[in-house]
Amino acid sequence: MDLSFKCPKCGQELEVDDSGAGEEIECPACNQTIRIPGTPPGAGEAPPATGWASLSAPVIASSAAAKVKMHLSVPVHDGPSDNLIAKPLSPLDVTAKETDRQLRVKCIRHVDCVEVGHDRFDETVTKFLGKIGEQHLVSITTISFSHIDVASQKLLNDYGVMIVYRG
Ligand SMILES: [Zn+2]
Repeated sequence: MDLSFKCPKCGQELEVDDSGAGEEIECPACNQTIRIPGTPPGAGEAPPATGWASLSAPVIASSAAAKVKMHLSVPVHDGPSDNLIAKPLSPLDVTAKETDRQLRVKCIRHVDCVEVGHDRFDETVTKFLGKIGEQHLVSITTISFSHIDVASQKLLNDYGVMIVYRG
């Protein structure tokens, strides 16, 4: 059985199969979405269009509520994850104290360790390493350079070490 009605938007007379009653279609004349009037198929004893519409309303409402519930569940998960973030803070505090020690550089030149003919370079470096402690030693690099000997006024090649440490 065919169902004829007029498009509420443009007034165009339309004819559809009554199995499409209550469905939303696009009007072929004005391309606007319109609802086919009438009762849905198999709803003989069921209430008319208005009653059917109110029956469908709770379905939409409950699915909308489900969506809202899903969004609300996100902050609930935020609670424990905040604690997870907070926990590593205590070990970080410990490392923060350790890094309070600044990275420093100490250059020890061989020429500066020669006192009245006595070469105290090894002794000086050993003493310095003992002072900073092995755990704070970052690296030792040998250096070579030239300098003018005050006594002989000659250019001399010399060596030394550059010590990188935390202190
Ligand atoms: Zn229309």
